[in-house]
Amino acid sequence: MVQLPLPKHIDERELLYRINPEKDVDGFHPYNLGRLMIGDPVFLPCTPWGVQELLVRYQIEVSRKNVVIVGRSNIVGKPLAMMLVQKAKGANATVTICHTATPNLSQYTRMADILIAAAGSPRMITGDMVHDGVVVIDVGINKVDDHLVGDVDFESVVPHASYITPVPGGVGPMTIAMLMVNTVKSAERFVSSQ
Ligand code: NDP
Repeated sequence: MVQLPLPKHIDERELLYRINPEKDVDGFHPYNLGRLMIGDPVFLPCTPWGVQELLVRYQIEVSRKNVVIVGRSNIVGKPLAMMLVQKAKGANATVTICHTATPNLSQYTRMADILIAAAGSPRMITGDMVHDGVVVIDVGINKVDDHLVGDVDFESVVPHASYITPVPGGVGPMTIAMLMVNTVKSAERFVSSQ
């Protein structure tokens, strides 16, 4: 496994390409991302998969919903968008991806039935940026004054949300759980290929 982020002198892409896709339990190799994109995944990236699994386990309908994701990284925003747009169970949403070049961000976040914040910007999503009943998933982990906060301003958003994940304790543990699932799956695939 490659623990990101890497020191600046190491080329992240070059290193990730060298991982055997069969041992790619993070799901970052282009082979696995390509399989995800065509709707035939092998190893899904753990954080996006954890977000999807949270929605499934809490029986939150995703199909036909407006999902807005803030953040377009290769490890969270983009793969999550690809997963939730698939014509499949736990997906089938209309997905919008926002980023730093999105003008008037709140115009998009207010349209969200399910809002996923993965920007790495502390408490940037505030109560005036969401509509009542929104489901909010906060992927962000930011250190502020020696404690961890998400990308969502919990206090101002919580009165509007039907569901909201805490930071810490929400998406983080899900990421670890999905990493374990992928690790066991990789071992089982190895054993059955012998
Ligand atoms: P990146 O820095 O790689 O990507 C952040 C993305 O958010 C970029 O696409 C950036 O846009 C966008 N963004 C940043 N600020 C704003 C803003 N003000 N308005 C709109 N878009 C914005 O971060 P990661 O995807 O790696 O991680 C995101 C957050 O999630 C971090 O806090 C990280 O710690 C956390 N994280 C949590 C995990 C968990 O297990 N819970 C796992 C992985 C990450 P642009 O592309 O234009 O720069």
